[in-house]
Amino acid sequence: MAAIKRVALVAHDNKKKVLLNWVLKNKARLSSCELITTGTTGLLISDASGLPVTRVHSGPLGGDQQIGARISEQTIDLLIFFWDPLEPMSHDPDIKALLRIATLWNIPIACNQSSADFIVSSPLMEHYERLVPDFSVYEKRPLPKR
Ligand code: PGA
Repeated sequence: MAAIKRVALVAHDNKKKVLLNWVLKNKARLSSCELITTGTTGLLISDASGLPVTRVHSGPLGGDQQIGARISEQTIDLLIFFWDPLEPMSHDPDIKALLRIATLWNIPIACNQSSADFIVSSPLMEHYERLVPDFSVYEKRPLPKR
């Protein structure tokens, strides 16, 4: 993993307060990370904490997919994604896709506060050799016949 951890932060509306409080509680740790966020989540985080963030689109406008693309390009080390288990969302397929791509690429994922606490306080935050899955066999699979 990169020496400076690139941390993606996303929270649904009902979870934004929980994420904001978590960020404030972990501000010192997060200040040594690069933060990438969806639109509104990032606005709230930078306002409340003063931490610099790189914002992509809002989740429903493609932000989850942008974060997912960065994960597949190996430019995100860790995903903090406080999704809302009680509300259906217009962009449910994107949420599923983000969780899928983070799982596929073996990225640590925290979907609630206690998981985020465990991850951010882990000594592995200092140094971790993440196994990047090798999909070369998949990429070289025979193409379907035309
Ligand atoms: P938001 O997007 O940070 O712009 O609210 C998050 C989401 O709903 O996925």
